[in-house]
Amino acid sequence: MKILMIGAHQDDNEFERGGLASKYVKAGHDVRFLSMCNGCGGHHILSPEETTATRAKESAKVAELLGIRYDVWDIDDCNIVPDLATRKRLIRYIREYNPDMIISHRLNDYHADHRTVGQLVQDASYLLTVPHECPDVPAMRYMPVIMYSEDSFKYPPFNADVVVDIDDEIDVKFKIADINVCQVYEWLPYTYGEENEVPTDPKERFEWLKFKGNNITLETTDEEINALEGRQGYAVRFARPAAKFRKELIERYGEERGSKIRYAEAYELCEYGKQLSKEEMKEYFPF
Ligand SMILES: [Zn+2]
Repeated sequence: MKILMIGAHQDDNEFERGGLASKYVKAGHDVRFLSMCNGCGGHHILSPEETTATRAKESAKVAELLGIRYDVWDIDDCNIVPDLATRKRLIRYIREYNPDMIISHRLNDYHADHRTVGQLVQDASYLLTVPHECPDVPAMRYMPVIMYSEDSFKYPPFNADVVVDIDDEIDVKFKIADINVCQVYEWLPYTYGEENEVPTDPKERFEWLKFKGNNITLETTDEEINALEGRQGYAVRFARPAAKFRKELIERYGEERGSKIRYAEAYELCEYGKQLSKEEMKEYFPF
């Protein structure tokens, strides 16, 4: 299969879909990341140009780690809108790759750029198969499956159609986070007022990034994870979906395995793409 993950920014695909991406690559599928924005907005000290250049280098490292192609478009952060030109650009881009599945944002996510990207994917969806639209690139013969990755918004509720065990990919996901230095150790701590808490030693800061003092293990209960409030390490962030969708995990993997999964990623089937039966869902998500 060819799987196209479309984020507004570098780190969206990584943090929301990185475990699944790694699983597909290891199973022999082709995964591609697209960041529709150039990342210029994500720093408080570097200039927009320096931030874009720094993030491009970090994304190249992520691509190398995962073994994927990673495209970054030239649209400035906070400046993407669902206009006709961008929609046509996206239609052409998707057609040229011809993916079996697209994974992107819902329309309810916190950042305007995420919502816009979700809208553009929806707007492009049916038109991918319409030959007279963007006739310079052949229309797709089959509608790809479109999935949304999970966000924390409650309305409308996120429907966890598939929840994937990523316990065996969590170290890859932590490494991906660690590669995004200018985000996870600089910009994001700044936005949370934590910039003075980041250790300078690379090993210490990596531990801080993961746990921030809450060293969760397989023995930590869902209740304990759900009770952790405030800004947590990535171990807690990446563990929240399994705690939240325990019922779905047990349905999918059975009581014994499903009750012990610590890290998971959840996806919702988008109604604008190809629809899947329960059996087909297993073929697209064979993990
Ligand atoms: Zn983002």
